[in-house]
Parts: sequence; C-alpha cells; structure tokens
Amino acid sequence: MTKINTVGVIAAMQIEIDALKARLENSETVTISGIDYVSGMLHGKKVIAAKCGIGKVFAAICAQTMIIHFAPDCIINTGVAGALNKELHICDIVVGEKTVQHDMDTSPIGDPVGLVSGINVVFFENDKNVADVICKSAEKLGFAHRRGIIACGDQFVADSATKEKIVKNFGADACEMESAAMAQACYINNVPFGVIRAISDGADDGANMDYPTFAKIAAEKGIALTDEFIKNI
Ligand code: SAH
Repeated sequence: MTKINTVGVIAAMQIEIDALKARLENSETVTISGIDYVSGMLHGKKVIAAKCGIGKVFAAICAQTMIIHFAPDCIINTGVAGALNKELHICDIVVGEKTVQHDMDTSPIGDPVGLVSGINVVFFENDKNVADVICKSAEKLGFAHRRGIIACGDQFVADSATKEKIVKNFGADACEMESAAMAQACYINNVPFGVIRAISDGADDGANMDYPTFAKIAAEKGIALTDEFIKNI
C-alpha cells in the first residue's frame, strides 16, 4: 500500500470544491489550460484541489495535468450524482467501487458496451484502500453511504428510459459526468483513484426540479466527507 502524503481532489463545479480550497493552509494557485490548481496543507497532508468543469473531456484533461504537474499519491473525485439504485436517497453518499463510461459504445462492431478499446477496460476498478477509508470516514460522520458502480457519460440523465438502459447495461447505482474519465487518466498512469458522490436527484423525470434544489447541499456533504477522508488516509 502506497503511503499517501499528497492527495489530489477534483470536482466538476465550484459548489463541489470551493469550500475545500478555502480550508487549505498556505495555499498557492497554479493555472494551467484555464484550470486553477490550488495546493496547500490540510490535516498534515498536501492537497491539490481543482475544479475541472463539466463532462468527461475536462475531467480527463484535469486529472492528467494534475498527475504530470503535481504527482499526487491518489486522486479523489468528489461531487453530486443522480441515483439509479432505488435504495439511494437525496444526499446519500455513493462510494465508487468501479466506474464505467456508459456512453462509450462500439457494440455495433462486436465490442461490449462501455469498452474503452486499446486498454480493453469496461469497468475501472477504484483503489480498495481509498474506498475503505472513504467508507470509514462516512461512518465516523454518520453519513448514509453505499459502495457501488458509478456510470459516467456526457449527458444529464433525467428520464426513466435512459436510466433503465444504464442500469441494464452496467448494473450501476449512480450516474454523473466526470468520474470514469478521471479514472481512465489514473488507470493509464497507475495512480490510485476514488470517488465520493452525494445524490442530488433521481436521474428521472423529477431530476430537473430536484437538481437545482439539492445540488448545493449534496455537494457540501461530498466536501465534508472528502475533508474527513484526508484526515483519515
Ligand atoms: N450547466 C450546468 C451543468 C451541470 S451538469 C453547470 O455548469 O452547472 C450536472 C453536474 O452534476 C455534472 O457535473 C454531473 O456530474 C452531476 N450530475 C448530477 N445529477 C446528474 C444526473 N442526473 N445525470 C448526469 N449528471 C449528473
């Protein structure tokens, strides 16, 4: 098990990361390709926090840049997500066990849906130690959480048909738009990766109403858990 001294934290949106950036002591900001990387100390660890922007392309660019420029010992993606599993309620936490790109699809020519060709991966396995520490941290905070499969794609899921298709294809518990792209960058660079996502909506017909109502409070839970993770890792 690698000793974790430097933790990279990436989120898509300001509401998912700004409060963490503000907690970093002696912070410095480096801007690369328009993304601010704020580094500083928290609970005796070096932390690099970045807001990547929405979607898989920004997520991959940010993770790759963070790896090359700051060499973190692990990267955590924190943020909000739509629930696919009926057991998940607003503000519950999903701890990513695996991530998959649900919109990656070369199946018409015989590949499994979700396959990232070349590296031949459908499910990116998250680091087990990182996931264990996230779960322990959630227990300490008394946050309802479950380990699960997170499906990621360049699409805000807000209808039952799309939701059911993603569940049928991948058995996923939650959906969002960035984690599996970061997972791919971490995979090709051998960097341990973990995902913390708090439920902001049900990825169904009500999602367009729930998301604006609950995204901020869910995002804050993700930040609180990320902070506790940094303390415990
Ligand atoms: N223009 C908006 C876009 C937000 S997209 C903006 O810039 O704020 C929604 C974000 O929340 C994405 O980062 C995604 O990862 C996450 N998310 C929450 N619920 C989702 C859902 N039902 N489907 C897909 N992504 C979701």
